[in-house]
Parts: sequence; C-alpha cells; structure tokens
Amino acid sequence: MSAEAVRRLAEIHTRIARAEEDAGRPEGDVTLVAVSKTFEVEDIRPVLQAGQLVFGENRVQEAQKKWPLLREEFRDVELHLIGPMQSNKVKDAVALFDVIHTVDREKIARALAEEMERQGQTLDLLVQVNTGAEPQKAGVLPDDTADFVTRCREEFGLAVKGLMCIPPVEDVAAPHFALLQKLADGLELPWLSMGMSADFETAVGFGATHVRVGSAIFGARDYG
Ligand SMILES: *Cc1c(COP(=O)(O)O)cnc(C)c1O
Repeated sequence: MSAEAVRRLAEIHTRIARAEEDAGRPEGDVTLVAVSKTFEVEDIRPVLQAGQLVFGENRVQEAQKKWPLLREEFRDVELHLIGPMQSNKVKDAVALFDVIHTVDREKIARALAEEMERQGQTLDLLVQVNTGAEPQKAGVLPDDTADFVTRCREEFGLAVKGLMCIPPVEDVAAPHFALLQKLADGLELPWLSMGMSADFETAVGFGATHVRVGSAIFGARDYG
C-alpha cells in the first residue's frame, strides 16, 4: 500500500510537469501539497522518504497527533492547514503549521495576527473564497474578497499571500478557478491554492501555484 503511494506520487509529479508545460509555465512552478488527512504516520512516512516534504491536513487536532513525531525525523517538512479554522484552535495552529489556506473572517484574522506576534512566528496566509457561494461552505464571498484582504492587510497587518477555493462538487471546476485567478490578479496576490485529485491539471492551466492532492496519492479515505 505504501509502495503504491510512492508510485502514485511520482505519477502526480509527472502529470503536474506536463500541465505546467501545456500552460507555458516554468517547470517546478507549482507546489504539490500532499493531503494526508485520515492517513496514519505509517502511511505518510514512505511518502516523506520518497522526498515529498509539503503536506496538508484539514484538522488541527489530527495533525497534532501525527506531525510532531514525523517532524523529528524529517526536519524540513512544511505543513499546510487546509481545513476550516476555529478560533479556539488558533494558538495550536500557529505553533504547528507553516501555511494556513483558510483565513475567512475577521475574528480569525485578528486572532492569527495576535498569536503570531505572541509566538514570534510568521505563517504564510491565504484567504479562502467561497466561489460557489455555497451556504454550508467556509470562505468569503467573491464580492467581499477585496475588502476582506484589504482589512487583513491594513487593520491586522497580515501579509496575505494568496487565495484558496474548493469548487462545489457538482460544478465544472474551470469557471471557479478562472474566478479565483481574476480575484488574485486584481489584488496582486502571488499564490493560488486550487485543484485537487480530480482537477489539479485544470487548475494549473488557470495559474494554480499550490495544488492539494490527497486520494490520488494515498488512495481512498476511510472516515470510519
Ligand atoms: C481533502 C482535501 C483535499 C484533497 O482532496 P482529494 O480529492 O483527495 O485530492 C484538498 N483540499 C481540501 C481543502 C481538502 O479538504
């Protein structure tokens, strides 16, 4: 099973390189965030050994159980939080993660600014945009994105790096990626976190700098 993940990792790298080439982008322009949520330390270790150092987790508590141990073995790991943020988890998130993709409200922005100051840590931050305006989904609405990013910068002194989206499952992804790209361009934000197992090549075509790929590397998730 682990050997399988390592084989699939290599395949994803090949597909990303081909998508970069098709889009006329330099090789290595796109960062692969390997999404290891629900998988155990034993599943993740071979992927680290194969040279993958950038990982995404969607829950702070789950990541706390897995990553301190792995970090002792693999010092250069870069950990990304890609799941919704709760304010009571901000302190732990700042202590554990290097990048947060899911800043989406003022309460969290303020808490992050205070906590980074307190811990003397500077994380890279992205604002999550709810491109499909889905009521159940986290993220700021497209029309509110410019205002929110400006407030993050001016009021909380946060250096927002980019935008992130998760298109509605039932939609064609491309228009959502196009919208996120347009919003990021307008705000001169260099990072675009978009594209998952089913659509990362499309996302690369729309300028994704970070693709978040889980099941295409680790296999199907078991939430049991
Ligand atoms: C789980 C998850 C992914 C990875 O999804 P796959 O379809 O398994 O590649 C990407 N982004 C977010 C925010 C996720 O929660």
